[in-house]
Amino acid sequence: MKETKQAARLRAALIVQVLEELYPDAICSLDAGEDPWRLLVMARLSAQCTDERVNIVSQDLFAALPTPKAMADAPLEQIEGLIKSCGLYRGKAKSIRDASQILCEQYGGRVPDTMEDLLALPGVGRKIANLILGDVYGKGGIVADTHCMRICGRLGFYPADKKNPLLTEKVMEEIIPRQDQSAFCHRLVLFGRDVCTARSPKCEGCPLGEYCKYISDDNG
Ligand code: SF4
Repeated sequence: MKETKQAARLRAALIVQVLEELYPDAICSLDAGEDPWRLLVMARLSAQCTDERVNIVSQDLFAALPTPKAMADAPLEQIEGLIKSCGLYRGKAKSIRDASQILCEQYGGRVPDTMEDLLALPGVGRKIANLILGDVYGKGGIVADTHCMRICGRLGFYPADKKNPLLTEKVMEEIIPRQDQSAFCHRLVLFGRDVCTARSPKCEGCPLGEYCKYISDDNG
């Protein structure tokens, strides 16, 4: 029988509570402070790169180019050299410079706080936009990264074989209260590394086991 929206909300609330107890201090693993521009740049650098590497590379990057204006005016070759070890550096350098130029020309160097305006910036997709809206502007947002998509599917909020960020975002935004969404996603990253891993989820003894459909669907 299909779970009602009300039942899904209740189950999600219990999951949010367990994750909060497990990871009380969960914050974004990108070390951008409260600066939306740095978060935007670092999130762009993190594509197919680890957050640890991005944190290291960003220290030199922001020491050399500390503001949107400095980034906007920098030669591409300089940015490429500073971010090379993050991989895909040509495309990343171009998009963070172009985005910085738009921020300077259209927003006085500030990062906008709406989904529509964020999505208009080069290199910014819904995942980065939701990260900024939730972490910096307190507006909430489901960051549908690989952990979030996998675990929410296994928990049974939508078919586990549907790996679709838009679906994850839509379904989870309806059942997780806005104020809980950012922390929920950060905690799922930790939970996805520790327990509900991609290849071999540790279902036995899992703290979310009693709320999870994966086991009852005979996967455990
Ligand atoms: S019971 Fe298994 S599938 Fe469900 S959340 Fe825990 S580890 Fe993941």
